[in-house]
Amino acid sequence: MVLSSQARAAGIEEEWARTVRRLADERDALIVAHNYQVPAIQDVADHVGDSLELSRIAAETDRSTIVFCGVHFMAETAKILNPQRRVLIPDPGAGCSLAASITADQLRAWKAEHPGAIVVMYVNTDAAVKAESDYCVTSANAAKVVGSLPEDAEILFGPDMFLGAYVERVTGRRMHVWMGECHVHAGIRPSDIQATLTAHPDAELHVHPECGCSSQCMYMMATGDLPADRTFVLGTGGMVRRARVSAAREFVVATETGMLHRLRKENPQATYVPANPDAVCGYMKMITPAKLLECLRTMRHEVVVPPEVAERARVPIERMLAIG
Ligand code: SF4
Repeated sequence: MVLSSQARAAGIEEEWARTVRRLADERDALIVAHNYQVPAIQDVADHVGDSLELSRIAAETDRSTIVFCGVHFMAETAKILNPQRRVLIPDPGAGCSLAASITADQLRAWKAEHPGAIVVMYVNTDAAVKAESDYCVTSANAAKVVGSLPEDAEILFGPDMFLGAYVERVTGRRMHVWMGECHVHAGIRPSDIQATLTAHPDAELHVHPECGCSSQCMYMMATGDLPADRTFVLGTGGMVRRARVSAAREFVVATETGMLHRLRKENPQATYVPANPDAVCGYMKMITPAKLLECLRTMRHEVVVPPEVAERARVPIERMLAIG
């Protein structure tokens, strides 16, 4: 019998998934995958989620090893929250352009210019930057955290300039904002969204406030540059629930394209369209199925956070988790 190339590829993928699952069991490893991972990795993982969801899962697991399929700062956060576990990342070079836009030395110099200021940093930062921060925030709770700070507090906010502009807009607070950005947001510009919405006139626009790639959309929404009657800023669960109750059948999704795999799986009757199919995070895609398998085979690429850095970085992370 001659197998089609498609059937052969499916067989290879099934064999890969069986081997990954077997090794994960043998190694007592929990595999977690970010929503932006390639479909095969999402499908083989124990848990798929956003950075906050995966941090919580990593903090609670009793498995001895966590294999983190995501970018490096996320794996660091897992290590900080559960230091007794071994945390592995299939490719230690999987960075983040937003996290790389500020270093601990730069933050220390910025703080020295503003003694006494409260430092609020997006969770997309390295552990050493978190260790210099008072609060870590997500896109979803940044405005709530800033709004809860004393009226007269001087605030240093970073590293995402679009999230900073959004927070200033919705809270009415003035802050010093670091001019960092995620390279993927450039793929989700106002013109891309307008063009996609024009091509899909009955579609709702769902903005997923997960990563630096969508914070520009949040700012556009706050400034009224997106159609308010059909734009929704939603987390993953909210997107799935909204599609089930909405009269619309098509949904334009403004975030990194990996998110669409999970949405399509959870809601197969809905049609999901990326705001721009080129909005792809190359760092997330550095984690490949072959590297995940190799990581489990060799147990290499352990994520190490110096204990003194981890101790200080844990404080702003736990504040973020407490706020939700
Ligand atoms: S999408 Fe942007 S912010 Fe998110 S991990 Fe990739 S580079 Fe970092």
